[in-house]
Amino acid sequence: MTEQTDRILRLGARIRAACEAAGREISTVELLPISKRQPLERIREAAEHGFARFGENYVQEGAAKAQAAPHLAFVLTGPLQRNKAKTALQHFREVMTLDRPELATRLRSLAAELDVICPVWIQLDLWNEATKLGGCPEAGLDPLIQALGHDPRLPLQGFMVLPPPGDSQAFAAAALARARWQDRLGQPLRLSMGMSDDLEEAIQAGSDQVRIGTDFFGSRI
Ligand SMILES: *Cc1c(COP(=O)(O)O)cnc(C)c1O
Repeated sequence: MTEQTDRILRLGARIRAACEAAGREISTVELLPISKRQPLERIREAAEHGFARFGENYVQEGAAKAQAAPHLAFVLTGPLQRNKAKTALQHFREVMTLDRPELATRLRSLAAELDVICPVWIQLDLWNEATKLGGCPEAGLDPLIQALGHDPRLPLQGFMVLPPPGDSQAFAAAALARARWQDRLGQPLRLSMGMSDDLEEAIQAGSDQVRIGTDFFGSRI
């Protein structure tokens, strides 16, 4: 068995145990492998285990991988600059880091121009860490959602959060914010939270998607 196969099996067991502890069905938690700074061979090996969607943080790197492996799907989990928005829509199947109205407006016009549909997630920042990790503060959600304008080309999937490490209340706060905005918008919103070090806590708090880099692929290059 290769090291990667071993890692994937162990990760599966961790996720299963976390779901059992939380009284949740394992099918309700998606594992999104984060393949940033991982070579394509490792991604291809993961594909042999049935994984077909990968998160990438850097637009150029992800676009190159998407071109080299057109049968796989890549989603953007890193910050998006306006001048890379077109490349992102051409090569990524989802954008998980929408964080400001100007970007929503830009993506809408590009999606129409390119004739593509690109589901989006809002990166929600409940911790006023905007300068470090990016993300939209809760007070900025109304204008951002308005800028999205229920555009069928950019269907809103939910919130992606990157809480500050060691904040034990962070996942619960994100779950409450999700519940508030589901009520407010009258639509289901998925919640993407939990990484290699804290997936158990995230699943306990109601995460629908854990994003795993290191514990899936091994150390990054
Ligand atoms: C790198 C990264 C991850 C995965 O982190 P690990 O600690 O390696 O599991 C998840 N989400 C985002 C947004 C990342 O940038």
